[in-house]
Amino acid sequence: MAQAPAERLEELKELVRKIKSYVEAIGLMHWDLRTGAPRKGVDIRSQTIGMLTTECFKLQVSPQMGELLEYFADPGIMADLSDTDRRLIEECRTEYERNRSVPADKIKEYSILAAQSESYWEEAKANNDFAGFEPYLTKIVAFKQEFIEYWGVKDTRYDTLLDMYEPELTVAKLDDVFGRLKKRLVPLLERIQASPYQPTHDFLHKDYDVKQQEAFGLFLLKEMGYDFEAGRLDESVHPFATGLNPGDVRITTHYMPNDVLSAIFSSLHEGGHALYEQNISQELAGTLLAEGTSMGIHESQSRLWENMIGRSKPFWQRYYNDLQKHFPEQLKDVTMEQFYLAVNRVENSLIRIEADELTYNLHIIIRYEIEKMLFNEGLEVSKLPEVWNEKYKAYLGLTPPSNSQGVLQDVHWSGGDFGYFASYSLGNMYAAQILATLRKEMPEFDQYIARGELLPIKEWLTDKIYVYGKSRTPSELIEAITGEELNPDYLADYLEQKYTEIYKL
Ligand code: ZN
Ligand code: ZN
Repeated sequence: MAQAPAERLEELKELVRKIKSYVEAIGLMHWDLRTGAPRKGVDIRSQTIGMLTTECFKLQVSPQMGELLEYFADPGIMADLSDTDRRLIEECRTEYERNRSVPADKIKEYSILAAQSESYWEEAKANNDFAGFEPYLTKIVAFKQEFIEYWGVKDTRYDTLLDMYEPELTVAKLDDVFGRLKKRLVPLLERIQASPYQPTHDFLHKDYDVKQQEAFGLFLLKEMGYDFEAGRLDESVHPFATGLNPGDVRITTHYMPNDVLSAIFSSLHEGGHALYEQNISQELAGTLLAEGTSMGIHESQSRLWENMIGRSKPFWQRYYNDLQKHFPEQLKDVTMEQFYLAVNRVENSLIRIEADELTYNLHIIIRYEIEKMLFNEGLEVSKLPEVWNEKYKAYLGLTPPSNSQGVLQDVHWSGGDFGYFASYSLGNMYAAQILATLRKEMPEFDQYIARGELLPIKEWLTDKIYVYGKSRTPSELIEAITGEELNPDYLADYLEQKYTEIYKL
C-alpha cells in the first residue's frame, strides 16, 4: 500500500531531526574546543568530531534520504505542501546533492584536519608561527580545491565557494558591488584623514578591569533582549556565536585590558547574531530551516546592533552613564560627546575585528582579493604573508609587524571557510538598507534607543527577519523588507552622513 504524503513527510522530518542531533553534538564539541578544552585532548576530540561528522554525513546521503527526495520530486505531491515544507525539502535536496558529490572518506579526512587545524592556528597565532601552521593550511586549501571539482565549478572556481555562504552570489556581482562601494568610500576616507578635526581616544586604552568589562557586556546583552536562559557568554581567542538549537545560542567575547571597546562591541556583535538564532520561529525548530538564511543576512544583524545601534549617539546618551559607573576612574574626565566621537573614530588599523565601520570594508576587500588569487589564480599558501602585507600597505598604508597581527589574525581559513569574508561587507550593506526602512517605519527609532527601549527594535527585526530563519532566501527577504535588491548606496549614504558630522567635513 502506498503511503500518504503526510506520512512520508513525517519520515523525512524524523530523518532530518536525527541529522540535526549530530550537528548539535558536533557544534557543542567545536564550541568546547574553542572555549578552553584541554590541549592534550584536542587530537582525540578531533577524531571524535570526525567520526560523528561521518555518521551525520551517511544519513545525509543515505538511500532513505535519496528515496524520500525522489518521492517528493513529483510536482503533484509538492503542490499540496505548505511553502515551508517545500522549502525544507528543497534544502534537503541541495544538501543531498552537494554532499553526495564528495566521497565519504574525503569528508571524514577533511573534518579531522579542519578541527586540528583550528587548534593549531590558535597556537600559531599565539607564537607568531606561520611556518608551523602552513602545512595545515596548505592541506585545507588542497581539499577545498578538490571539493570545488566535486561540487562543480561555477563561473569561476571561487564562485563555487562564495555561493555556499551567500546563495547566488558571484564574483561578477561582488566585483561590481565592491567597486561601487570603493568609489564612494575611498574619497570619504581621504577627506576624513585630511580633516584637521581628529577625535582623541587615548582614554580608551587605559587599564580597564576585565571583570568590570564583563559585567557591562552582560548588562548590554540583557538590554538588547538576549535571552540568558537560551544562551551563555564565555571567552575565546576569537569571538563567535553558535546556535546549537533555538534554546541554546551561545556567544563568546575576548577581553582586552587596554581596550575598553573591544569586548563591548564584540558582545553587541555576537549578541546580534544570537538574537537572530534565538528568535527563529518555533515551527522551524529541528529542521534545516532553523538557521540564518545566509552569512550576509546574519552579518547584517550583528552589524546593525554593533554599529548602527551600538555606535549611535542616542545609544551612548542612554548608556554612557552606566559605563562610567563601571569605570569611574578611567572615564571621570571624559564627556559622553568625547566618548561618542572616540568610538566612531576612523583609524587605519591592522586588525579586522578592531576596525571602524568605514575601513572595515577595506579589510574585507583585501581578503576577498587574496582568496580569489588562491582559488582562481594559483597563489601558493607559502606566499600568503607576503601578499597579505603588500595589500595592507597598499590599501591601509600599514605593514603588520608580525604574522600574528597579519595573515594569522582570523580563524576562518583554519576551518576552511573560504568565501566567507565577503559576507561581512554584504552584512554592512544589507544592514544599512534595512536600517533605512526601519527608520521609515519606526519614526521614533532614535528616541527609543535614547530611552534604552531596545525591545521594539528587536521585535521589528524578529517580525521582518528572525522568524523566517532559512525559509526565505536573502534576496526574497531584502526585497520584502526594503522593496529593492541589494544596493550598496545605502551604506555609502549612511557612512557619509555619519562621518560628515563627526569629522566636520
Ligand atoms: Zn587607539
Ligand atoms: Zn559576525
